[in-house]
Amino acid sequence: METPIRIDSRFPAMGTTIFTVMSRLATECGAVNLSQGFPDFQAEPALFDAVHRHMLAGRNQYAPMGGLPELRQAIVDKVATLYGPRFDVESEVTVTAGATQAIFTAIAAFVRPGDEVIVFEPVYDSYVPAIETVGGQAVFAQLRFPDYAPDWDQVRGLINERTRMIIVNSPHNPTGSLLTAADLDRLAGLVRGTDIVILSDEVYEHIVFDGERHASLCAHAELAVRSIVVSSFGKTYHITGWKIGYVVGPAALMAEFRKVHQFNVFTVHAPSQLAIAEYMQDASRHLGLAAFYQAKRDHFRQLMAATPFTLLPCRGTYFQLARYAGMSDLPDRAFAEWLTREVGVAVIPVSVFNADGRDDQVVRFCFAKREATLEAAVERLCKAW
Ligand code: PMP
Ligand code: GLN
Repeated sequence: METPIRIDSRFPAMGTTIFTVMSRLATECGAVNLSQGFPDFQAEPALFDAVHRHMLAGRNQYAPMGGLPELRQAIVDKVATLYGPRFDVESEVTVTAGATQAIFTAIAAFVRPGDEVIVFEPVYDSYVPAIETVGGQAVFAQLRFPDYAPDWDQVRGLINERTRMIIVNSPHNPTGSLLTAADLDRLAGLVRGTDIVILSDEVYEHIVFDGERHASLCAHAELAVRSIVVSSFGKTYHITGWKIGYVVGPAALMAEFRKVHQFNVFTVHAPSQLAIAEYMQDASRHLGLAAFYQAKRDHFRQLMAATPFTLLPCRGTYFQLARYAGMSDLPDRAFAEWLTREVGVAVIPVSVFNADGRDDQVVRFCFAKREATLEAAVERLCKAW
């Protein structure tokens, strides 16, 4: 249908998210899809049975704006057990339509036109568009290649009176790097005495390998009081399509968060909230996730050893970065497309997470897949090299 309206695009240069682009291309080409991050295996039937049961029991009307009390309680209990602080069930936890909405809402609640928000490159692709939608300006700090550690001296130089927010993400997508307790101490020192809000994207909080501990901002007394911490059940319970997550934070920050949340989402799917609340009662389900994915990581890395890719360290998340320098001269985006079309394995080029397009010839593989899927992918890679 033609429209007579002349559209003055708010985002003239914006394309479609790389995850959609690569998954579509994978489907078109019949490629093994190790690009977009989602499991290709099922969650436990107990979770689905619970949703069904709650639907039949009539729990199908609006949940309270902050989320159903059963789920808020389960979240507060989990956070207290793992990280220490006990957030108030009424005023310090909100159930969201996934982490993406939580991040967008937090940015909309705190960032005003002209405010600056510090993000770390490679940066997860939803942060900067959200900042720009509300008239804020993203300011880029670099995670140092190839270990992707933050440079806190650089961050110190980026902070000024316009800095409203700093967004951190650990375990980090796409690099699989982690912030340490020492990193959090450095961050705390930098924001001490300022009004900077920290937005902490911890959607992979339960996927940390090799005995390392997840350094949650909830567990850092000085940072927790100025932070909104985001998580997602999509990652934890293998249900990315349900789009349910949550935020925790001090009541005064949460009150601002909810002012936006109530008018762009209000509340999320009620029977799923009840099912998740029930499912959370068995802590082994989230505590077992690290070992589950570590086995997949190790299996995938072992398979990949037969290819000429250079694997970078993977300390958390379900993503493995690999360098193809020496295998191809293509820029990473062209390489990812070529790999999808010609070799039949879809991956994500990492340069798309860099504002200046910096390209280290690194691509991201998602190993949240069945063994047979990972083996089929690597078999194709081995045929090509
Ligand atoms: N942040 C990061 C770092 C992610 O990797 C993802 C999803 N892969 C999200 C946020 C969004 O999570 P959700 O699907 O719950 O919106
Ligand atoms: N976060 C997922 C990834 O990194 C994708 C989510 C999405 O498609 N928006 O692959």
